Amino acid sequence: MAENLVPITVAYGDGIGPEIMDATLRIITAAGAKIKTEVIEIGEKVYMGGNSAGIAPEAWESLRRTKVFLKAPITTPQGGGFKSLNVTTRKTLGLFANIRPCISYHPYVKTKHPIMDLVIVRENEEDLYAGIEHQQTDEVTQTLKLISRPGTEKIVRYAFEYAKAYNRKKVTCFTKDNIMKLTDGLFHKIFDEIAKEYPEIENEHWIVDIGAAKMADTPEAFDVIVMPNLYGDVLSDVAAQITGSVGLAGSANIGEGYAMFEAIHGSAPRRAGQNMANPSGLLLGAVQMLVHIGQGDIASKVHNAWLRTMEDGVHTYDIFKEDTSKEKVGTKEFADAVIARLGQTPKNLKTVEYQAGKTISVKANPTTKGKKELVGVDIFLHWTEKNGEKNADVLGNQIAKIKEGDLGLYMITNRGLKVYPNGFPETFCTDHWRCRFQKPNDAPLHYSEVIGLLSKITEAGFDIIKTENLCTFNGEKGFSMGQGQ
Ligand code: NAD
Repeated sequence: MAENLVPITVAYGDGIGPEIMDATLRIITAAGAKIKTEVIEIGEKVYMGGNSAGIAPEAWESLRRTKVFLKAPITTPQGGGFKSLNVTTRKTLGLFANIRPCISYHPYVKTKHPIMDLVIVRENEEDLYAGIEHQQTDEVTQTLKLISRPGTEKIVRYAFEYAKAYNRKKVTCFTKDNIMKLTDGLFHKIFDEIAKEYPEIENEHWIVDIGAAKMADTPEAFDVIVMPNLYGDVLSDVAAQITGSVGLAGSANIGEGYAMFEAIHGSAPRRAGQNMANPSGLLLGAVQMLVHIGQGDIASKVHNAWLRTMEDGVHTYDIFKEDTSKEKVGTKEFADAVIARLGQTPKNLKTVEYQAGKTISVKANPTTKGKKELVGVDIFLHWTEKNGEKNADVLGNQIAKIKEGDLGLYMITNRGLKVYPNGFPETFCTDHWRCRFQKPNDAPLHYSEVIGLLSKITEAGFDIIKTENLCTFNGEKGFSMGQGQ
């Protein structure tokens, strides 16, 4: 009955991708998944064929049609010019939430953390993954970290809704807001706001460095952890690895209209073509896909057969240990072992029971427009003395003479640290200087005054890299102070 089959787009990927995809599709089909696959080509071959995005227009058409993507890992060629297909796909399809359950299977899979069962909810579209990078001077490169209110509201609300839907008791937030007070500060602030809407769920915040250390040492202290993109990327690999193998974790990328399911690991090219790779990560990604398309019963059947296979000690090389495993198998044999156990449940590990149609939908509140006032400008310069010296006082004394009305130099920083006036001669400086201009008493200004100032600085022979406006929003400063200011 072809009309009952749910169309999904499938990409076999690179490296170990084709082998683990083959195993995954064989298992879910044997379990009775009602799906119809449309295969697309992505990754290395497409990149090497001259498409710098790694995905062809026909592939996008398939994704638009099916809205569900089961994707094996791909190899991103090294070097400039190739954009990460994973990042492009997540952002193009608006897949803002990345869900990565990391669970240990003690005593069947060797781990130092026998009672680990946590889910990382990673923001998937923003942060340093905006990919807006520039070389600004001979010495300095820059990337932009973007954190938005609607983006953060959606991911934090998703984390709490996920906790509610899956009976989890606590949501933890990791940020580095002691340093990044505006960007990570916004993430933390919104977390605190939204946590109030879920009084039945415990909430807490950790600074990411000590939080990560605690997670690696005592993962049982965590339940759901929500975090900005980069921390989530790094820490979900850590969390998956300490369950026993990075090859064990699957991942769902969820948006409003689309969803993509994958393993969290990469294409492991050194293991490709040897029938060695563990297909479990992609299989558990496919389990999340089955839940998403309303086939929770099939998802449960696959997951329980897989748990039973783990218990029976039928293991691929990455988790095989003489004392805990019984049989070392390749990718194909592992798939056969799971298929042979379809219909069985684990004896000791917890049996899984997914409910069909448990979809989580979240929205950000409309943003209220605040009162924005321009109160200064940061002008970034590429500068050294003629002999290559980088002396803050020499620069400061020249720049301090340049004024537009009463808009004048307030301070200069180098790599964020205030070096003028009253800097330390010992401070190491690069050729990248941020000159902050303000009026006395933080008085507001008009942008035409900034343009006048820029003209004067250029006429004086300085090389301007870029400017950043200093604004207040409803009277609150929308910019950070200089370190040491
Ligand atoms: P990787 O995750 O591919 O492999 C790291 C190591 O982990 C491997 O050498 C292997 O020992 C082990 N491993 C990973 N998956 C395994 C599995 N299923 N079974 C058994 N062992 C497994 O990371 P990498 O080597 O840094 O990256 C290789 C390529 O993958 C790169 O081109 C990278 O860009 C790409 N990558 C793709 C994705 C994706 O498509 N989602 C994600 C991460 C990395």
